[in-house]
Amino acid sequence: ESLDKGLEKTKENFFTKLGRTVVGKSEVDEEVLDELEEVLISSDLGVGTTVKIIERIEERVARDKYLGTQELDKILREEIAALLSENNTEDLKDFGIPSGVKRPYVLLVVGVNGVGKTTTIGKLSAQFKNKGLNVVLGAADTFRAAAVDQLIMWGERVGVPVVSHGMNTDPASVAFDTVKKGVEENADVVIIDTAGRLHTKVNLMNELSKIKRVIQKFVPEAPHEVLLVLDGSTGQNALIQAREFTKATDVTALAITKLDGTAKGGVVIGISDEFKIPVKYIGVGEKVEDLQVFNKMEFVDSLFN
Ligand code: GDP
Repeated sequence: ESLDKGLEKTKENFFTKLGRTVVGKSEVDEEVLDELEEVLISSDLGVGTTVKIIERIEERVARDKYLGTQELDKILREEIAALLSENNTEDLKDFGIPSGVKRPYVLLVVGVNGVGKTTTIGKLSAQFKNKGLNVVLGAADTFRAAAVDQLIMWGERVGVPVVSHGMNTDPASVAFDTVKKGVEENADVVIIDTAGRLHTKVNLMNELSKIKRVIQKFVPEAPHEVLLVLDGSTGQNALIQAREFTKATDVTALAITKLDGTAKGGVVIGISDEFKIPVKYIGVGEKVEDLQVFNKMEFVDSLFN
């Protein structure tokens, strides 16, 4: 229900417009498809994804000769679901941490300032703790004092240790000590907050490769996940950031935040389609439980029900 509520604005925007495209029409014709194209683009699915969906519907129309407008919802629902990433249901029970992976599971979190990176890490820590997992946090986004302080506050609130060397210290050194502590304390999950800036791609790449290099001294498979946090309410900006970050490092999963209070939730569909990187988490509110493991059918159902 928090998902339904969180996606309310996106749904309203999308369906109001979708409804208008078929008013007084019984058949999906070229005019309906043109309008649908505009609706999808203005709902932040992005041009590439929109064109793909329109083409698939055109194929259906060509094949079946006739498509009634009352079937449009169902077809859109299917086409959208086909473009979304599916999370392994096995992962859902430990809030996205696969079972059977040697512990600690190391999560590197990247994203520009303000997207909700620290909050997402805090919420993740709380969710992992609720699942009985031991967590260690590392404050390796050392460029901003606020980021370090905020992470420490989350650590206190949730009751998990935070490794910090303060502001302007070497991020790789923080990451090193965090993973070391994780191993020493038999932690299940180590979460490292990193690289809040993207002023140059080379900088970011160097910083992240250095972090990877040093943490692999303790855990050769680390990082198990590079989680990119994106602010869904920025719509197409989130897509641009995803392009930049995926060029700079191997992003393995996405967290899309702030989907509540925005009508731009369609960006989840566009990003999932363009990058083929699983959307692992979505943020639909301020509360801990408003960070959810992404479930594509639930997402689609929230949009269409
Ligand atoms: P950071 O600079 O990326 O670390 O961003 P923060 O974690 O400080 O978050 C910036 C703001 O976004 C804070 O006020 C958070 O409470 C808020 N925020 C983060 N995620 C969500 C979300 O899913 N929904 C809403 N409504 N607010 C969020």
